[in-house]
Amino acid sequence: MDNTRKTIVIPKPLSISSGVLTTTSDGTKVLTFGDISISPMRLILQYPDNRLKQKSNDVQAINMFIKSVIKDMEQYLSIPWHLGISAVQLGVPLRIIGIKRNQQVLFLINPVYTKKSEQTYKRMEGCMSVNEGRIQYRVVRHKLVKVRGTDITGKVVTIKGGSDIFGATIQHEIDHLDGKLVLDYPQ
Ligand SMILES: [Zn+2]
Repeated sequence: MDNTRKTIVIPKPLSISSGVLTTTSDGTKVLTFGDISISPMRLILQYPDNRLKQKSNDVQAINMFIKSVIKDMEQYLSIPWHLGISAVQLGVPLRIIGIKRNQQVLFLINPVYTKKSEQTYKRMEGCMSVNEGRIQYRVVRHKLVKVRGTDITGKVVTIKGGSDIFGATIQHEIDHLDGKLVLDYPQ
């Protein structure tokens, strides 16, 4: 009889944006992304869910509900390869976006463009809500944008994005608030 134990190597899952969902005995949803686990209250909608096509409304007041949405958004952004998220992706059609910059998460409520350069460029982008981020689509982005909104304390903030990942992510997330997805750009 062969008692040699075989070492089973379980490959790490690919960078699947929506994670692997399990439910614990007390009903808590747990999403696992490789070595990281999170327990958000809301799951990321996947195309072709029609809720992704709706235009989000302005946030009227930063109340407990908004804070719980932001807490979920924060959890998703704790996954290293998640760069940005919008509330509508969690089924909440309100104008809230979260973007990572230098490992820090920046939330912007009711973002409005105050400047968009005429000059644009093309780049490839994936989206957590489209094929779980596994397919990249050709999108058009402005080389420079300025956006004004408020932070989670209600303070007015202005952010500036250039022709880099941060600038593109701002535009990607605001697109979500207007019901636009990466695959809506001509491919
Ligand atoms: Zn997206």
